[in-house]
Amino acid sequence: MLNLDIQAQYSHLEETIRSYNPSADFAQIQAAAELAYRAHDGQRRKSGEPYIIHPLAVAQIVAEELKLDSESICAALLHDVIEDTPCTHEEIAKAFSPTIANLVEGVSKLTRIQYATKEDEQMENLRKMLIAMSKDIRVILIKISDRLHNMRTMEYQSPSKQKQKSLETMEIYAPISHRLGMQRIKWELEDLSLKYLDPVAYDEIVSRLDAKRPEYEAFMARTRAQVDARLKDMNIHHTIYGRMKHPYSIYRKMFSQNKNMDEIFDLFAFRVIVDNVGDCYNVLGVIHDIYTPIPGRFKDYIGTPKPNGYQSLHTTVMGTDGIPFEVQIRTQEMHDIAEYGVAAHWKYKQNGQGSGTEGKYEWVRRLLENQEGADAEEYIHSLKIDMFADEVFVFTPNGDVQNLPAGATPIDFAYAIHSAVGNRMVGAKVNGRIVTFDRQLKNGDIVEILTSKNAKGPSRDWMKIAKSNEARSKIRQWFKKEKKEENIANGRSSFESELKHCGISMKTVLDPENLPILLKKVNCATLEEMYAAIGYGGFSAQKAVSRMHGELQRIEKQHQQEKQVDVPVEGKPDVMRPAVPKRSKSEQGIIVEGLDNCLVKFSKCCTPVPGDDIIGFITRGYGVSVHRCDCPNASEEKRHMPGQEGRWIKVTWGKDTNESYPTVLEAVCKDRMNLILDISAALASTNTSVCGLNSRSTEDEFAIIRLEIRVRDDQHLKALMNKLHQISGVLKITRPSG
Ligand code: MN
Repeated sequence: MLNLDIQAQYSHLEETIRSYNPSADFAQIQAAAELAYRAHDGQRRKSGEPYIIHPLAVAQIVAEELKLDSESICAALLHDVIEDTPCTHEEIAKAFSPTIANLVEGVSKLTRIQYATKEDEQMENLRKMLIAMSKDIRVILIKISDRLHNMRTMEYQSPSKQKQKSLETMEIYAPISHRLGMQRIKWELEDLSLKYLDPVAYDEIVSRLDAKRPEYEAFMARTRAQVDARLKDMNIHHTIYGRMKHPYSIYRKMFSQNKNMDEIFDLFAFRVIVDNVGDCYNVLGVIHDIYTPIPGRFKDYIGTPKPNGYQSLHTTVMGTDGIPFEVQIRTQEMHDIAEYGVAAHWKYKQNGQGSGTEGKYEWVRRLLENQEGADAEEYIHSLKIDMFADEVFVFTPNGDVQNLPAGATPIDFAYAIHSAVGNRMVGAKVNGRIVTFDRQLKNGDIVEILTSKNAKGPSRDWMKIAKSNEARSKIRQWFKKEKKEENIANGRSSFESELKHCGISMKTVLDPENLPILLKKVNCATLEEMYAAIGYGGFSAQKAVSRMHGELQRIEKQHQQEKQVDVPVEGKPDVMRPAVPKRSKSEQGIIVEGLDNCLVKFSKCCTPVPGDDIIGFITRGYGVSVHRCDCPNASEEKRHMPGQEGRWIKVTWGKDTNESYPTVLEAVCKDRMNLILDISAALASTNTSVCGLNSRSTEDEFAIIRLEIRVRDDQHLKALMNKLHQISGVLKITRPSG
């Protein structure tokens, strides 16, 4: 290289790399620097310097601040060649490695993104998109280094460019740096941005700090000496750093707490770095011994690390001059991770395991999602958003970021904008080119939807192409609303073909006895409603038919069971059954003359069973009450009471009586041992089920036993009564009535 300054800058870079990575590939790094030098030859920065100054400086940041590997250094040196020179991805891949070429390509992609300032949610999406686009974490680290150098040299840009870049830095790059745990870089980015965004406030803060600097520095030196002396006494190996709050954090405090600079509480912070965790707590003890701790300000992030892995002890104490200050105590490793975050982790990993693969960065992904100080719930939630795998971020033509599920297509995008956009879509452009509707969108794509008022609306295929539930449901809605007739026709034809497929005839479905049950099974009021649901895709024909099929099988089975129960009782051949249309006319085995489907109950006074002569009484509101003809409550006298004649009605037993009826027997017995046992045996031998049995003794030493039982009919009852009569001691058996 010709230029001496450039040569010196390069030597400094090599020296820096050698200090942390003596086995770096210096031949490759030099080759990268030379390629960058040639490729950018003739280009100049706004400052008038040769362009190569910039990539060298970015590589310097990548080395000095982040201590990254040889590949990252090469990529940093080459980071602008694809974008700004004729040099291509292929050339870099060939001359260096595909990994380096991919890193450069990744940085270029981020460079191409145009930002406009937006509301918070949009900014958050932009940040996520940037991280998502940096498939290799080194891409975003190089990009941040690039931005840092550009911010450091922003003075040569036009005022409007300064404002725009500063805003972008404040809203995108500083938060990402923070999220990646790189505090030092975050501060510098914030301070540099503030300088252009609010120059007056920035100057005021900086000049106040400068004015008081001797005083502040004296205070810090004094304090440091005090702590240093005590720790030396105790033989604790340590390093102490003192710093003032950086301008932007003072600025923010002044604004948010509405304070002037003198009121900012903790302008100073000290950091003590020790060898091990035990010493962290020892140092804390020493600090609290020398100074008075301010209550409520001690935090143990070693015992309980922050979600992003940050560890440290924090305490705020009152200094001897009445100036409060914060002390952070941590080990060297905790310190590296706090200052350089991801990069430090990356360094530790790299030294342990050699160069990395994607899988190694899993932990980074988790880290990326975490804001420092986010609470546990938020942390868990953010873990669920695996934005690398599940999401894709694309731009609308006016720069809004749209967040879609991975694999999303222009259809998903259109419906995400508005259902009216989707319904009127006639074409789509990605990055200015017409694409097919099934094109999978990539992070950073600019998507434009072409619409027409004469659009025919979505096609049914769109439902298969769309990836998001949102789009699918909106398309379904459209079909439901706009295409009712067509839906019904389509639904009907797919339903019918599915029926045929299952060997069910339409006649069976339309059978008035089956249809209401089947419709209930598919939650539709009418067949047409079901056809429409099938037609617009809300319900599949297969599902409808399979539910109906199940229901028809159940009905069939029920019929068969009924036959099996009825045959022995009736003693009639099966073929006779269809000729007896009695089912609809009898109620609990009772046929009420002239009345179908009326409510029937059996009177409690005489408990009739099939075979008994019976008569019905029309009650007020409880249907027909059935009495035995010999019940005192249905006596001739009562039947002819004035005003009551019309209420007595002829009833007969049908052929489809219930399996059993409740009735009551009373037995008068001479009490003896085991009487109840013998009665039980009689009940069992006649297959009689017992609902209740109670016994009471009369004054003349007889027992009256009341049996509440269920019998099939009068024959069954007669058989039981005979059995009971044969029991010794049973004197009399009656059916109580009245
Ligand atoms: Mn650059």
